[in-house]
Amino acid sequence: MLSFWEKNSFLKYDVIIIGSGILGLSTACEIKENHPDKSILILERGIFPTGASTKNAGFACFGSLTEILADFKTKGEQKTLELIEKRIKGIEALRKRLGDERIGYINNGGYELIDKNNLDQLHFRGGVNLMLKDIVGEDVFEVRDDLISQFGFNSNRVKSLVYSKYESQIDTGLMMSNLILYAQEMGIRIINGSEVKDFHIKNNKVEVSLLHTVLKENVVFECEKLVLCCNAFTDKLFKDIKVSPGRGQVLATKPLKNLKFKGVFHYDEGFYYFRDYENRVIFGGGRNRDFKKETSHEFDYNFEILDDLREKLEHVILPSEEFEIDYYWTGIMGFTETKEPEIRDIENKVIGAISCNGMGIALSSYLAKEITNKYFS
Ligand SMILES: Cc1cc2nc3c(=O)[nH]c(=O)nc-3n(C[C@H](O)[C@H](O)[C@H](O)COP(=O)(O)OP(=O)(O)OC[C@H]3O[C@@H](n4cnc5c(N)ncnc54)[C@H](O)[C@@H]3O)c2cc1C
Repeated sequence: MLSFWEKNSFLKYDVIIIGSGILGLSTACEIKENHPDKSILILERGIFPTGASTKNAGFACFGSLTEILADFKTKGEQKTLELIEKRIKGIEALRKRLGDERIGYINNGGYELIDKNNLDQLHFRGGVNLMLKDIVGEDVFEVRDDLISQFGFNSNRVKSLVYSKYESQIDTGLMMSNLILYAQEMGIRIINGSEVKDFHIKNNKVEVSLLHTVLKENVVFECEKLVLCCNAFTDKLFKDIKVSPGRGQVLATKPLKNLKFKGVFHYDEGFYYFRDYENRVIFGGGRNRDFKKETSHEFDYNFEILDDLREKLEHVILPSEEFEIDYYWTGIMGFTETKEPEIRDIENKVIGAISCNGMGIALSSYLAKEITNKYFS
């Protein structure tokens, strides 16, 4: 049974946030920065964040050329450009909040590998540059085919290379652990190992219930406002919000003796992505090879996709290098039906802040501002 002291000091808050991924943490920080007097609790089911935020490859990007062209088809030009602007502002806000050193921010630019099937996409480069000029002020995408052999890529498979100086990389682990520290230093309480099972509104307050794993009894927290930042796992808690999980496989090679490239790299509309990290290659993607199987909440491996990643390392990215795969893992992204973030009020007390659609590193700090301005002014 909870003690008198626990009931007095641990259960009541102004704001409770469910999920300590980058969106939950950024939202908590943004609210606290603007309203230092508010008491904020984050409830996280994992011993540390356990969704996408500690599992990605650490790209600080707003979209490659073919990814933007694909988004034009599904979202339309206006919506795509609005989203790009939000991603740019989000990265700026993350850098401002923690500083480049604490997120391991490095700007070595980004590149997209174009194979023979996508060569025709290059015709749209000028038009996309023109549209992006309104947002960034100058041309973004530049063709740098001269670098294909310098980087050691297989020129039979890589027919063109599109460069953007606006793409950068971060150290995902460093960023997330410093974001947690930053939040805690401001007085935001984070309780891990707390999987929320239910919430409801009672007497104009929100009650949030979970099982105390040691005492094996139900614990009920209470707050004025609840924010759901559970990403792919949201509809397990609240069925009205439709989010589809998308699993991403990532691997890291052992350090290479002679890694010839630095920067972040995209391939095939952003479905594949790789980067350098301390002479290793971190490489992920391939979800488009098996969408059905990868629409999963389980952190399992898909060995067919891992084999495909290995094949691309061997034959496209590192054709003349000896390499060994050191480690691999998976992360779960969340996708809404419109592929746009969904921030939505549920009964004026509960805010659903859902799904950065595989772009949360870039978007979260911006969305945190939107949530704070809209619901905590
Ligand atoms: C492989 C991979 C590559 C990616 N590449 C990029 C990229 O290049 N650029 C980019 O910007 N983004 C990228 N992303 C996406 C980015 O990581 C996500 O968009 C972002 O991390 C989402 O943050 P979030 O806080 O919304 O969700 P998550 O990080 O998923 O956090 C949700 C949290 O909620 C917790 N939770 C869920 N249910 C409950 C519950 N009932 N009770 C308590 N806690 C709960 C989970 O444990 C989790 O910690 C990538 C992601 C992956 C997996």
